[in-house]
Amino acid sequence: MAFESLTEKLQNVFKNLRSKGRLTEADVKTALKEVKMALLEADVSFKVVKQFIKSVQEQAVGQDVMNGLNPGQMVIKIVNDELVKLMGSETTEIALRLASEVTIIMMAGLQGAGKTTTTAKIAGKLKAKGRKPLLAACDVYRPAAIKQLQVNGEKQGVEVFAMGDKNRPVDIAKAALVHAKTNGFNVLILDTAGRLHIDEEMMQELQDIKAAVPVDQTLLVVDAMTGQDAVNVAEMFSNKVGIDGVVLTKLDGDTRGGAALSIRAVSGKPILYVGMGEKLSDLEQFYPDRMASRILG
Ligand code: GDP
Repeated sequence: MAFESLTEKLQNVFKNLRSKGRLTEADVKTALKEVKMALLEADVSFKVVKQFIKSVQEQAVGQDVMNGLNPGQMVIKIVNDELVKLMGSETTEIALRLASEVTIIMMAGLQGAGKTTTTAKIAGKLKAKGRKPLLAACDVYRPAAIKQLQVNGEKQGVEVFAMGDKNRPVDIAKAALVHAKTNGFNVLILDTAGRLHIDEEMMQELQDIKAAVPVDQTLLVVDAMTGQDAVNVAEMFSNKVGIDGVVLTKLDGDTRGGAALSIRAVSGKPILYVGMGEKLSDLEQFYPDRMASRILG
């Protein structure tokens, strides 16, 4: 499970703090230095760590903490609150139009991040909410992508709109929207093509799709196990294509947790969901407060 090593390190820091009656400024400084190291080792972005520690320090050296009845406990609370803030405080949901209209969601991300799987996972969640989603296979470059979406769509009981790999993604998106409108679907999820690395062509294609159909939300899928890379990808997509939120996949295999902690602060975009496994039911809503509790153990 995610964060094991960060949790273990933070727990050691806090154990030391709790064992002291009153805290001196030096005690707090030492503890925060250890927290800083633990966050850096968890692959949290350096800039984010610096700001985080500064903010905790400002609150922790305040008189209230020094003179508090249980200063160790108060420092832990400050760290907890700052972690929640770092991850965005509020839970962000996919914003849906009225059921009488079609909400268009565009999925983006690098190849292998889990985009196609996540598309089907989200369709399942929306279906459970009473929506009627249609998935559009706009990844015409990866040979197996269309078939994979069809297989997953079938598992979820959700229709997949495909036109093979000879049409342009923009045209598929347009045709899918017509199909959605004429057949009573109220959510259209576009599975777009990824690349191994960020390139201009991919960014352009996403912009072209956005220009061709009225996309309501662009969700970026990133792989938590790639740590800082995931954060960089989020920042780039945010600047170049414009994204509304992030789905962080493979958190089940991520022992460090750096991406979960840095993405919001670096890209300015909230994490909506986290992928916790390969099964189509392994997608969880992202709750910053619960995640902070999980990290602190
Ligand atoms: P795409 O190229 O971005 O469309 O990626 P895929 O959807 O094909 O996923 C790539 C691999 O990651 C597949 O083997 C998925 O089963 C796996 N995967 C996707 N999401 C998760 C997740 O949350 N946890 C785990 N453990 N594996 C995942």
